[in-house]
Amino acid sequence: MNPYLSVVIPIYNEEANIPQLWERLAKVLDGNFTGERNWELIFTDDGSKDRSLMMLLELAKSEPRIKVVEFNRNYGQHSAIFAALAEVEGRVVVTLDADLQNPPEEIPKLVAKIEEGYDVVGGWRQGREENDSVFRRLPSKVVNAITRRTTGVKLHDYGCMLRAYSREVVDAMLLCKERSSFIPALANSFAKRITEVPVAHAERAAGDSKYGLWKLINLQFDLLTSFSLLPLQMLSVLGVLVSALGMGFGVYLLIYRMLHPDRTVEGVFTLFAILFMFIGAQFLAFGLLGEYIGRIYVEVRDRPRYMVKKVHQHSLKSQATSPK
Ligand code: UDP
Ligand code: MG
Repeated sequence: MNPYLSVVIPIYNEEANIPQLWERLAKVLDGNFTGERNWELIFTDDGSKDRSLMMLLELAKSEPRIKVVEFNRNYGQHSAIFAALAEVEGRVVVTLDADLQNPPEEIPKLVAKIEEGYDVVGGWRQGREENDSVFRRLPSKVVNAITRRTTGVKLHDYGCMLRAYSREVVDAMLLCKERSSFIPALANSFAKRITEVPVAHAERAAGDSKYGLWKLINLQFDLLTSFSLLPLQMLSVLGVLVSALGMGFGVYLLIYRMLHPDRTVEGVFTLFAILFMFIGAQFLAFGLLGEYIGRIYVEVRDRPRYMVKKVHQHSLKSQATSPK
C-alpha cells in the first residue's frame, strides 16, 4: 500500500542531530499518521563527511518505511531535496531541515492545510530573532523581499523549508530540468492555492549552519535569474534613464556655453566624473548579461544535476538507480 504522507529531509553532516530528529519524528508520525494514512520518510545524504550516512542506514535497517538516497558527493540542499522528491510515493509531501530548527511537531498542522485543499503550505517562522544571528537574518530579509517581488506571491517567509506540497505540485516540479532551482519559488509557480501557517522556530540543535554568505548570494542569483527577466528589463530602463540624463546635461552645457563663451574648459572634470559613472553602469550591465549567459551555458550543457549512488530501503527494495 502506498503511504499517504512522505516526509523529505536533506542531511549534510548532521550526525549530532539525527538521533533526536528521528525520536521526535517517530513520535509525531506514529501518533498522527496510521492505517490508511501511513507515512514514509526519505532522507538524502548529501555527501556527508561524518557518520550521518551510517546512522541513516542503521535507521533504515530497523524501519522499512525509511528510504535513504545516497549522493556520491555534496550537491547542496535543494538538489538533495529534489533527489528525495523523485522517490516520494505519498499524496502529501512535507519537507523539513534536519537541524531541528523546524519542529517536527508542526507537521500535522501543515498536512491539515493541504487537506483543506491548498496546493502549497509554507511555514512562517516565528520568533526567529532569538535564534538566528543578524548576519543570517539580514540576507534572508533581502531574499524574501526580492522573491516576493519577482515571483509575485506575497508570502512572509520563503526561506523556511518546513513546507507541505500536494503530490501534483511535486510531480510538476520533477518535470523541471533546470539546475538552479529554489524549491519554494518553483513550487509556487505550479500552485493555484498557496497559504502560510505560523510555525515555531528553534535554535539549531547541534552543529553549524551550512550556509555561508557566499552560498546565500548564489541562491539569490538563482532566484533572480531563474524566476524572472526583471533584471534584464531593468537594464533597458537604466539605459533610457542614463541617456536622458546625458542628453539633459548636453543641453545644459550648450546653454551654459552660450551664456559664458569665456569659460569653456571648466566643465571637463565634471564630464569625466559623469563619464565614469556611465562606464560603471555599463559594466554592471555586462555583468548581469554575463550572469544570464553563464546560466544558459550551464543549462545547455545539460549535465546531470546530481548523481544518486544508491537508494537504500530495507526489505522492500534496494537498487542502484541511473542518474537523473
Ligand atoms: N544541507 C544539505 N546540503 C548542504 C547544506 C545543507 O543537505 O550542502 C541540509 C542540512 O543538513 C539541513 C538543511 O539542509 O538539514 C538546512 O541547512 P542549514 O540548517 O545549515 O541551513 P540554515 O538553517 O542556516 O538555512
Ligand atoms: Mg538550519
